[in-house]
Amino acid sequence: MQPSYTRGQSDKPLLNDTIGAAFDATVAAFAEREALVSRHQDARYSWAELGEQVDQCARALIALGVAPGDRLGIWAPNCAQWCIVQFASAKVGAILVTINPSYRVSELEYALKQSGCAWLVCADTFKTSDYHGMLNQLLPELAAAQPGSLNSERLPLLRGLISLAPRPPAGFLAWAELARLAERTPVARLRERQSGLSADQAINIQYTSGTTGFPKGATLSHRNILNNGYLVGESLGLSEHDRLVIPVPLYHCFGMVMGNLGCVTHGATMIYPSAGFEPRAALEAVAEEGATALYGVPTMFIAELDLLREEAFDLSTLRTGIMAGTTCPIEVMKKVISEMNMAEVQIAYGMTETSPVSLQTGPDDDLELRVTTVGRTQPHLESKIIDAHGEPLPRGEIGELCTRGYSVMLGYWHNDKATAESLDAEGWMHTGDLAQMDDAGYVKIVGRSKDMIIRGGENVYPREVEEFFYTHPAVADVQVIGIPDQKYGEEIVAWVKLHPGETVDADALKAFCKDRIAHFKVPRHFRFVEDFPMTVTGKIQKFRMREVSIEELSGDQ
Ligand code: AMP
Repeated sequence: MQPSYTRGQSDKPLLNDTIGAAFDATVAAFAEREALVSRHQDARYSWAELGEQVDQCARALIALGVAPGDRLGIWAPNCAQWCIVQFASAKVGAILVTINPSYRVSELEYALKQSGCAWLVCADTFKTSDYHGMLNQLLPELAAAQPGSLNSERLPLLRGLISLAPRPPAGFLAWAELARLAERTPVARLRERQSGLSADQAINIQYTSGTTGFPKGATLSHRNILNNGYLVGESLGLSEHDRLVIPVPLYHCFGMVMGNLGCVTHGATMIYPSAGFEPRAALEAVAEEGATALYGVPTMFIAELDLLREEAFDLSTLRTGIMAGTTCPIEVMKKVISEMNMAEVQIAYGMTETSPVSLQTGPDDDLELRVTTVGRTQPHLESKIIDAHGEPLPRGEIGELCTRGYSVMLGYWHNDKATAESLDAEGWMHTGDLAQMDDAGYVKIVGRSKDMIIRGGENVYPREVEEFFYTHPAVADVQVIGIPDQKYGEEIVAWVKLHPGETVDADALKAFCKDRIAHFKVPRHFRFVEDFPMTVTGKIQKFRMREVSIEELSGDQ
């Protein structure tokens, strides 16, 4: 019996640099090439210009007294300043706490308090969020405080706030002021600070989307995320000639690691199409910037494919990209290849706690494997699939996926209990995802273990039923959940989003199932929707769908 265990091979060693050193090397190597384009801000930087901005911000942070190990929060949608703060904080050794831009006051308070942030960089407004207003609500002392000497009752460690607004209200330090502050720190002092940092130090806290309970702060080092960005970019074959459109949020590792660090380690251009995801902005960015690569979670690609049904965009320069973040439906992958000119698109699988990517399909994998699996173990990492007793299962059997290696987080910030629950003594991160490994080491993700449905004693994997409905021509997107049922233990509910203009009903979808899938997998209920409850990172909140369906169907048993 061959156990479900593999180790990712590569002849390329891991990088030992700090993020700041890797950034400086790229600035030196590609000074005049384009580094960053933020289209909604009409901003463009060469590597030399970006390097200047990053150094200026880093010197200003030192002038503000930000010390290595201090926590610096950022609460903003995608923008050029986000990228500048990411690399400036890495240079001064501050731990960047990336805060979800759609958090509201109580969630923000939790993240700032739990991480003990000393400073926070914030946007002014985004969609329905008024960041200044929420901060004033949380910090009534703010308006009367001098930036840098805030004395808050609720957040005693917070010293000051930097606003990205051109003229922020009282109490906030304006972003533009950083240029003046930087003059107080000689360049040599910044260099000295940088050279005192080590790659194993914590540099980032990312609160995991956590579908229930309080978010946990995955704490990641330079080595963790720099190498992950580097190896993801290697898999894509990125170079200084590539231009990557990043519509995924920067606060999440998909944006800041796979996107920003993937580009920085290869000299490729980072392109932000919009502050938050808009399918048109993403496709326009590809067409107008001559992009070679595009990232997205499945729902983003689905929205782009829907737009392409109505309108043409020149995607002729695209070659590759990544779909990741949640189950990547086979039919959607096929369409991305055939209709978006992304012949080399790859699937990546991972989680914040593993920096994030631990498995990825490769450019040489055959089409079938590239659309149906999440590929093989990334270089320098190990994967195994275990049973309920922690023993590796034979190949082909379904169990929990675990990851070990350089990418595994240092731990959850100030939460040893949660760390011990998911990271075992041998260094394996237990993902909570159900997976299956074939003889060649390719892994299929079957779903989250807690999303599995047991109906009448039969295990039903929502993913399998979802994949089946994607083959129906009227179905744009579909999510399958289980809800409690007196007779069968659980019953299956499908939430379906149809393509524009399509009108099929539940009976038609049930008829479509007949003789095509086993009767116990056929959903009893269908709900037609325009959207799904979702996090900003494109993760469907199945627990919310369950709540809604239980409520709606409570009289129906
Ligand atoms: P996060 O920490 O927010 O990145 O979420 C990690 C979770 O996203 C994983 O544990 C998986 O459940 C899910 N996930 C990420 N990528 C994939 C993928 N390619 N296929 C299936 N699930 C995925």
